[in-house]
Amino acid sequence: MLVSGLRSEVLFLASAATGDLVKRRAVGAYLGLAVGDALGATVEFMTPREIRADIGQHRDMTGGGWLKLRKGQVTDDTTMALALGDSILVAGKVCAHAAADAFSEWMRGKPVDIGHTVRRGIALYRQTGKPEMPENTFDAGNGSCMRALPVALATLGADEDAVDEANRCQAHITHNNPVSDAGTLCVLRMVQAALLGATKAELRLLTDHLIAAESAFRFDRRRTENPSAYIVDTLRAVFQALFATDSFESALIDVVNRGGDADTTGAILGMIAGALYGPTSIPTRWLRHLDPAIRDACRDQAQALLKGSPLCAATPIQAPMQ
Ligand code: MG
Ligand code: MG
Repeated sequence: MLVSGLRSEVLFLASAATGDLVKRRAVGAYLGLAVGDALGATVEFMTPREIRADIGQHRDMTGGGWLKLRKGQVTDDTTMALALGDSILVAGKVCAHAAADAFSEWMRGKPVDIGHTVRRGIALYRQTGKPEMPENTFDAGNGSCMRALPVALATLGADEDAVDEANRCQAHITHNNPVSDAGTLCVLRMVQAALLGATKAELRLLTDHLIAAESAFRFDRRRTENPSAYIVDTLRAVFQALFATDSFESALIDVVNRGGDADTTGAILGMIAGALYGPTSIPTRWLRHLDPAIRDACRDQAQALLKGSPLCAATPIQAPMQ
């Protein structure tokens, strides 16, 4: 199946002259994350009915929202991902202590937004020096998924267990929950498959694999509107929008107009769709307004992480260490 076939496809791709294509898609995933975050943040915590009444259809970068953002400004979803990515590049591996230090530094910088579970996890790390929360049934929020993109790039070409371990390593700093882990791992696999040229139908097989293990993620029934930060709710909205549309733009417009945790559904769908459709699919009217410092950081980090991945590197980024 696709999941277990990834590694052989990776080896095939490594031997073929497709490196530029993978690099472009990796940049697409990063820019997609940031664009989705900035677009969705305008309508975060609104209901679809409120969006229709206030805006009509939300389809442009306008800033505003409950955080009163500048046009094209991103939130915690993107800035935490960049902090995690920097920690991987500095440590040369996905390292829980390095990532927790980076998150602590990020929080010290007074980010525009921070989730309750994230704040609690970082606070506990500061107190105890232990970069892992105890397992908790209630910590199934989307906070570890929204920032996970650097792991997809850093472990591209690694075997499935290494991707899983690296994911849990960064996730458990704030969210130690098996449902959140399973959902996030599925997103990472979808991004990696898309980077390697998988079709949308092949990405669907990865969601089937998730649903076989965790049936709560079924998304073929009622339309998910006003999605909460619960990972199941978030990913149902993301998957419905991805598979009901055929472009980056239409997928993102679909998901953010569902309201709710719209910056995070936008960010997660943005990373998958950016990898799937590539950076040229991202509307220039969105990219143009994206904070230039964030845009440059996304491009640089995507390429640096990919360069250190097992796919590309002679000295790959190592397996996670506590
Ligand atoms: Mg946010
Ligand atoms: Mg959010």
